[in-house]
Amino acid sequence: METRIWKMPGDKPNLAMLKEAAQLLNQGEIIGFPTETVYGLGANALNEEAVKKIYKAKGRPDDNPLIVHICKIEHAKELVKEITPSALKLMENFWPGPLTLVLPKSELVPDIITAGLDTVAIRLPAHPVALKLIELAQVPVAAPSANISGKPSPTTAEHVWQDLKGKIAGIVDGGKAGVGVESTVLDMTGQIPIILRPGGTTREQLMEVIGEVRLDASLHDSQAAPRSPGMKYTHYSPEAEVIILKGTSHEQAGKIKKIIKENRAARVGFMISQELAAVLPKNLSQNIVLEILGRQGDLETITANLFDALRKFDQKNISVIYAESFPEINIGAALMNRLLKAAGGKKV
Ligand code: AMP
Ligand code: MG
Repeated sequence: METRIWKMPGDKPNLAMLKEAAQLLNQGEIIGFPTETVYGLGANALNEEAVKKIYKAKGRPDDNPLIVHICKIEHAKELVKEITPSALKLMENFWPGPLTLVLPKSELVPDIITAGLDTVAIRLPAHPVALKLIELAQVPVAAPSANISGKPSPTTAEHVWQDLKGKIAGIVDGGKAGVGVESTVLDMTGQIPIILRPGGTTREQLMEVIGEVRLDASLHDSQAAPRSPGMKYTHYSPEAEVIILKGTSHEQAGKIKKIIKENRAARVGFMISQELAAVLPKNLSQNIVLEILGRQGDLETITANLFDALRKFDQKNISVIYAESFPEINIGAALMNRLLKAAGGKKV
C-alpha cells in the first residue's frame, strides 16, 4: 500500500490536507497523526474493520485496548455510561491534554476497542492538528502510538515512516511531539482515582485538583499484575540492550568513566544529561556514542528527547545503551517508567 504524507506547516493544521486524511479515516483506512504526547495511529473508533487494521499494522496483542480520541468534552458523553462529577472536573482542568480517563463504556463502543473490557479509555489531545483531524472526520478516533508494538513510541513523522511505511494509508506530519511520552492513564471507575500508566499529566498535578490519587500496585511492585493490559508487555525497546545506571549523579559519572576505560571493542551508547557528558573524557573512541537528552534539571526536555534517542542508537549499531537515571518527581515518574520498561528492569 502506498503511504501518503501530508506535511503541515509546523504544528499548524492545513485544512485541505486534513480533509483528505479525514476522508480516508471515514473510508475505513488508518492514518498516523501527531498529538502532543507521541504520534498516534488513528482509525474510526466506530468501525470495527478499521480498528482491526490498527492491531494488524502494529502487531499489537489483541488483548491490549485502545484509547479513543475526541475533540470536544461533550463527545465523551456518548462513549461512557456516566460522567461522574470528579471525571468532569478532571476533563475541565486537564483537557485538552495528556490525560486519559478510564470510565464504564456505553453500548456504542465496539468490543474490539476495549479488548472486551466493560470500560473505555478516552482522551482529548492538545494538538491543533489532531483536534482538526478528529473534528473533520466527525467520529471518535481510536489511536494507540504509531509504532510497531514493543518499539520506542514515535515522536516524529519520520519515526512513524520507519515503522509503518507501506502498511498504512498515510501520515500527517505536524513536527515533533512536544511531551515525548504517552498520556497518563487514570482509572476513574472506583472511589479513588488510580494511575494505571504514568504519563504527560503528573500525579502531583492531578492531586492538586482532586486530592488523593493512587498508583496501580504494578507500578511499584513487579509481582503485581497490572490492571492496564498494555503495561504487561515489553515496550519501548530498541534493538540494543538497555541498562539503567543507579546512584547519585557523581556515582553514575564514575561508572560511565569505568565502562569507557575498560571497553575494548563493543559499540556502547550512553544516554545522558549535559552535566554528565561534560565530565567525560574529551577524546572518546569511535565505539562510544553519546546521546545527550538535555539539562539534568529540565526533565521536560529530557523526556521529550527520550524515544528519539533510543531510536538513534539503533541506527548507529550500538549493542548496549547505558541510561542515566533521573528523579521520579513530576514528569520524571513517566520518564523513569519508560526507561525501566525499555531496560526490562536491568540496572547497574
Ligand atoms: P497506547 O495507546 O499504545 O499508548 O496504549 C494505551 C494504554 O491504555 C495501554 O496501556 C492500554 O492497556 C491502556 N488502556 C486502554 N483502554 C483501557 C481500559 N479500558 N482499561 C485499562 N487500560 C486501558
Ligand atoms: Mg504504545
